[in-house]
Amino acid sequence: MKKALVLLSGGQDSTTCLFWAKANFDTIEAIGFDYGQRHKLELELAAQNAKEAGIPFYVTKVSMLTDIVPNALTSQTIDVEEVVGEGSAPNTLVEGRNMIFITYAGVYAKSKGINNLVMGVGQTDYSNYPDCRDEFIQSAKQTLSLALDYQMEIYTPLMWKSKAETWQLADELGVVDIIKNKTLTCYNGVIADGCGNCPACKLRNKGWQEYVNSKG
Ligand SMILES: [Zn+2]
Repeated sequence: MKKALVLLSGGQDSTTCLFWAKANFDTIEAIGFDYGQRHKLELELAAQNAKEAGIPFYVTKVSMLTDIVPNALTSQTIDVEEVVGEGSAPNTLVEGRNMIFITYAGVYAKSKGINNLVMGVGQTDYSNYPDCRDEFIQSAKQTLSLALDYQMEIYTPLMWKSKAETWQLADELGVVDIIKNKTLTCYNGVIADGCGNCPACKLRNKGWQEYVNSKG
């Protein structure tokens, strides 16, 4: 019996991973994090999608992240900026976020007898977020297993996929309509195709166009 816990935010990537996990494991659960993000709709969509897929979804609060460092994704008074230079992270980066999420998810997974975590991180299109890189994930897997004295795997099906390939995966899983219409990626909190102008929308919509064009 293969069990997995999916880290679910309500965005395109983690929701695609939810359905990837459903197709690849016998039993799955999902965990979401309320860290004071601007757009609560994200978690509401996550809850809806999980419920409709018959997957238990647990939301835990990790508010100390934003107590320490306010950020464009969590503060109402900081505007989202475009990435300024090559190699620098955008101001939507919440420092250490995935490290904390993985730790919480790992502790929760162990309590449920689950050995596999599934995350929607990737380093192909979305560079400059240091804790989305494969090197970090491999290291976190090892650290988590040591910290809990419990063998943990972390699956990242999108690690080497472009946004267009992520859309393709959703299509192959038969959930492209759910991903297109019932996820929130936009930094301005607009569901589905989003505001069209923020960096997250540009990436998502560009990937969609590429995917549609590749199908001919
Ligand atoms: Zn947007």
